[in-house]
Amino acid sequence: MSFRATVLTLYPDMFPGTLGQALAGRALSQGTWDLQTVQIRDYATDRHRSVDDTPAGGGAGMVMRADVLAAALDANAGPDDPRPRLLMSPRGKPLTQKRVRALAEGPGVVIVCGRFEGVDQRVIDGRDLEEVSIGDYVLSGGEVAAQVVLDAVIRLLPGVMGNAESGETESFEDGLLEHPHYTRPAEWEGRTIPEVLTSGNHAKIGKWRRERAEELTRERRPDLLAPRKDDEGA
Ligand code: SAH
Repeated sequence: MSFRATVLTLYPDMFPGTLGQALAGRALSQGTWDLQTVQIRDYATDRHRSVDDTPAGGGAGMVMRADVLAAALDANAGPDDPRPRLLMSPRGKPLTQKRVRALAEGPGVVIVCGRFEGVDQRVIDGRDLEEVSIGDYVLSGGEVAAQVVLDAVIRLLPGVMGNAESGETESFEDGLLEHPHYTRPAEWEGRTIPEVLTSGNHAKIGKWRRERAEELTRERRPDLLAPRKDDEGA
């Protein structure tokens, strides 16, 4: 059975977006994964079809209504749906490759894209939404973030990546950033390829790559070398 993604959004036309092209796009047309978009506004009940309202307690902006969003969720991912329910949110737990891999091993995912100031807390609590962030910056909406999550997951689905091996030596998979890459021409603007890579000695090449990966990680992301507390069980 294919991996089923359901995305709840006020902007369904933003999908499949980047996911309609290249690796993810091919996998979509081959049925490796399946995308359903849900227009949250279709579940509004008043005559203005409103999905948001002013924040309790005052302040700027608008808040997405709990009742409308819950109706959209219940109609498309009810209590018996085994898929995790994510809410894209800058307050969420930062997305990791570990979480991505766990999602790829499951039956699919339900993703809620926020807009405005955010979502009424009661629907987050009442529908057990897992808040997930793609980084410490603020986007205007959850749609791009949802595509980031799905892109990372889809490339790991069986049969999507041509070379199965390339999934395992990559950045983060072994807790390190990846080593540098080179290809032809052998010399470009006076720069050559490190000799070891053209030696044909695979043991040496492996050692060189491992050392470069460790060096890069120490320089750029020392935090990856010290296991993060918040990453446990992610
Ligand atoms: N007022 C909120 C930001 C709202 S941004 C706050 O300060 O936390 C509007 C929507 O964009 C959010 O509901 C969320 O769905 C999405 N979004 C913004 N930044 C994001 C991020 N870093 N990761 C995931 N989703 C994000």
